[in-house]
Amino acid sequence: MVSFDIVTIFPEVVDAYKSVGILSIAQKKNLVEINSHNLRKWTTDKHKTVDGTPAGDGPGMILKVEPIYKAIQDLKRENTIVAITTPKGERLVQPKLREFSNVKDLHMIILCGRYEGFDQRIYDNLVDYEFSIGDYVLAGGELPALVLVDGITRLIPGVLGNSDSLNEESFDNNQLEYPQYTQPENFNGWKIPSVLLSGDHKKVEEYRNSLKKKVE
Ligand code: SAM
Repeated sequence: MVSFDIVTIFPEVVDAYKSVGILSIAQKKNLVEINSHNLRKWTTDKHKTVDGTPAGDGPGMILKVEPIYKAIQDLKRENTIVAITTPKGERLVQPKLREFSNVKDLHMIILCGRYEGFDQRIYDNLVDYEFSIGDYVLAGGELPALVLVDGITRLIPGVLGNSDSLNEESFDNNQLEYPQYTQPENFNGWKIPSVLLSGDHKKVEEYRNSLKKKVE
């Protein structure tokens, strides 16, 4: 089974998202396991401190290496990929999600940053995969972690009710999906293109292919 261990100081964010939609269905089907872990569990002081001031001075707080080291030691298995969320990482793209979804019994620990991010020694010694979800800075790594989990999970065979949904999706063959419509045929004078109602599958396919945009 594919499993994810998400380490965060806000596990409730992960728990809320994993309990709905495709992620919830995938867990119920026992195709994926998604666990959230509060990083503070691996602290030893009474204040459960996970951060410290930057060495050499500077703004904000930095996530400490010790609790993260302990978390990884506890959660790591033989085949684990340790992933870290960071705006400095490799941009996450659909082929990478497909690559991960094809790993047999994938086990991933995903580290969610907060504040000014992580002590560099975490990147240098503990991590296999540094990823970013785009060229902007969010307040924390929970959304990026969930983007990774969601993107991989929906590609796991058996997760989507209709596996045809995965055919011809955006970013396959460097193309974006064609426009889609559903009932009613006419809303406010906004009509579904008549070719889609013609019943002529060849024409429909030609029409859709003509509207697929290339990914730049
Ligand atoms: N000081 C860091 C910098 O300038 O690169 C930004 C830290 S950000 C406020 C806090 C955390 O949010 C990061 O450690 C990372 O875990 C997460 N994060 C923010 N933006 C992200 C992005 N675009 N992709 C992945 N993770 C992101």
